[in-house]
Amino acid sequence: MIVVKVGGSAGIDYDAVCADLAQRWKAGEKLILVHGGSGETNRVAEALGHPPRFVTSPSGYTSRFTDRQTLEIFEMVYCGKMNKGIVERLQRLGVNAVGLSGLDGRIFEGRHKDSVRIVEDGKTKILRGDHTGTVEKVNTGLIDLLLAGGYLPVLTPPASSYEGVAINVDGDRAAAALAVALKADALLLLSNVPGLLRAFPDESSLIREIPAADVESYLEFAQDRMKKKVLGAAEAVQGGVKRVIFGDARAGEPISAALGGAGTVVS
Ligand code: ADP
Repeated sequence: MIVVKVGGSAGIDYDAVCADLAQRWKAGEKLILVHGGSGETNRVAEALGHPPRFVTSPSGYTSRFTDRQTLEIFEMVYCGKMNKGIVERLQRLGVNAVGLSGLDGRIFEGRHKDSVRIVEDGKTKILRGDHTGTVEKVNTGLIDLLLAGGYLPVLTPPASSYEGVAINVDGDRAAAALAVALKADALLLLSNVPGLLRAFPDESSLIREIPAADVESYLEFAQDRMKKKVLGAAEAVQGGVKRVIFGDARAGEPISAALGGAGTVVS
């Protein structure tokens, strides 16, 4: 089993990802796709007059502050436009894909964090009314049913809290939890960069290999949202996934290239 996570940043070629995925699926490989949608969510949120608010935690992690209205816009884009756009591409390519959020069948479950500590203008503050959390549990029952029926699952945040409330969760870490739960052979984290760069944005500074035991020490090279990918990679390898690859989804055959060793390989 291979878990492929494709991000939501500008420049990602979803046609290329879906074509590669379809070819491998038809050849008999078991794959699951997890996707993001942050770029499009930002555009739609602006257009609806509720622009995104990104906050930074005291430890330096950036996240989207998700009030109820933001959550609804997030669902419109992730579960609607992005998810159905990918499912449609796969259906056109002859793959019977099924798109679901983490709420459906409680595939992704975790604790709801209602308040977030942030640093703003040098001061630490607490913001309430946040609909965020982290995936702590993956319920694979529905996924097993789909795979056994020959359907390719296409999954996206949000997740469900233990109380059944929708929560915005990081897609990379959700994909990592899924890869662990499914005992996947590999987790691919595909985005609009060649991999983890030692000196972002210099693409010639690509880090080619990271020993699994050292992955957390590479957090120092990752800024903002890339940190979540490194953290997800650490969680996946600690959970028994043999290979995590940060790969490029901007062109070509992104899945085959990553599995062939392009990008940053954590193993
Ligand atoms: P996606 O939504 O596609 O999963 P993210 O925006 O969450 O992607 O994370 C990828 C982004 O991380 C890149 O587009 C880049 O701007 C940023 N980034 C920060 N530091 C690094 C780094 N060291 N190497 C590569 N990308 C980095």
